[in-house]
Amino acid sequence: NQRNQYQPTKKFLGGKRTVSSKFVPPVKNNSQEEDFYPRGSDVNDVEQELDERLKNIEPRMVELIKNEIMDTGSSISWDDIAGLQFAKTTIQEIVVWPMLRPDIFTGLRRPPKGILLFGPPGTGKTLIGKCIASQSKSTFFSISASSLTSKWIGDGEKMVRALFAVARCEQPAVVFIDEIDSLLSQRSDTEHESSRRIKTEFLVQLDGAGTGEEDRILVIGATNRPQELDEAARRRLVKRLYIPLPDQEARNQLVTNLMKLERNSLTPEEVEKISTLTDGYSGADMKNLCQEACLGPIRSIASTDMFQISADEVRPVNIDDFMVALKRVKSSVSDQDLETYLKWDQQYGSGF
Ligand code: ADP
Repeated sequence: NQRNQYQPTKKFLGGKRTVSSKFVPPVKNNSQEEDFYPRGSDVNDVEQELDERLKNIEPRMVELIKNEIMDTGSSISWDDIAGLQFAKTTIQEIVVWPMLRPDIFTGLRRPPKGILLFGPPGTGKTLIGKCIASQSKSTFFSISASSLTSKWIGDGEKMVRALFAVARCEQPAVVFIDEIDSLLSQRSDTEHESSRRIKTEFLVQLDGAGTGEEDRILVIGATNRPQELDEAARRRLVKRLYIPLPDQEARNQLVTNLMKLERNSLTPEEVEKISTLTDGYSGADMKNLCQEACLGPIRSIASTDMFQISADEVRPVNIDDFMVALKRVKSSVSDQDLETYLKWDQQYGSGF
């Protein structure tokens, strides 16, 4: 019968939980609609299974977190991130290993509860956050701090509480907060009452996260405007890593990786040339550049042929396509901004 066939390999509610089995929060995930309430389960059973930690959290919020903030996307490896060797090594040591071996990293070796990644936009901060989660086998939660005040107007404070409650149920967890400056900025006098409450709740949760011996929640704040962070934020995000623009070698790697799946005639010397000509470009700029260059072969197809031409007749991308693209796609970060990052890094960064 159907009930016997039901294999509890996926997360579902209503199953009998043992002391050692992992908690399954009471939300459905799009792909498991069918399994949400296993056939034959009793609603009372379900209620009994609700985790204590979600007791005071609105189910609607839990569902929102699971659907919009919890990331179940593809796994990222360190090799997917070009350059940034210093940041990668540091992160491995201070957060990834401790999350994998909490038994060794105790006492003074305990990992920080929060770290900050700062630097120009499009340099791989989000990618690093995802990679930390993948490599430490953690659940990844990603939220933009500005959405707490804008998207969930009035509910921001509750969202923060719900986010940490769900993270606690899904630990080990990495909570990535983009634009953290908009949450923890210095402009407290002009702040709205609601922003102030969100901020207070966030600080409370941050202080609480990872306090218990068992808790394994890492908060990663990311910002393009570190100078806006206040002292309370700096104090809590103890490791502050500068994520700079890619150097020439990293740009070379970016072009190589990005073009790997595209038919192209680029020689290693030509890739080197592209990486030399793109000083000041961010990783995201490099991606835009490659996308633009890939349109070159398409633009050379006569519009009358567009609907007959077969895919393998489209010519490979070549260096001339890149030379044209270089005129259209420029670097997006100003020298002045770079100077600000360097100064802030010297003053507050953990790289020295
Ligand atoms: P940030 O969070 O720093 O603003 P992201 O991590 O979202 O930037 O990067 C945006 C995109 O740019 C990524 O999806 C990726 O395609 C590309 N990118 C940026 N930096 C790197 C990098 N160091 N290695 C590989 N890809 C990168």
